[in-house]
Amino acid sequence: MHELSIAQEILDIIEAQRLRHGFERVESVRLRAGALSGVNPEALEFAFGVIREGTCAAGADLRIETEPMKLVCRPCGYSAIDCHGPGACPRCGSVDIQIDGSAGVEIVSLEVEQ
Ligand SMILES: [Zn+2]
Repeated sequence: MHELSIAQEILDIIEAQRLRHGFERVESVRLRAGALSGVNPEALEFAFGVIREGTCAAGADLRIETEPMKLVCRPCGYSAIDCHGPGACPRCGSVDIQIDGSAGVEIVSLEVEQ
């Protein structure tokens, strides 16, 4: 499961931060899933909830935001934020549309209790 390995990666990063900064508990974690990551936020939340048991992030408030998909028309350069995926360019009618976005999941912020 894709989300499970991502959740594990996030937990590994949190653990590494804990060893480096010496905090006791994570209060909240904010994540941003890239538009091209293919991550299902609910599945990620579930996976994280399962694997974090017994770690410093066990009681953390998890928030996941999804990066909007940015569409760029190759011929005319028109760009728009669109969650519905590529269609024809509204300016020139071309279907040569490129999707711009991140394929990763990153930690936006981490609130901890010392
Ligand atoms: Zn165009």
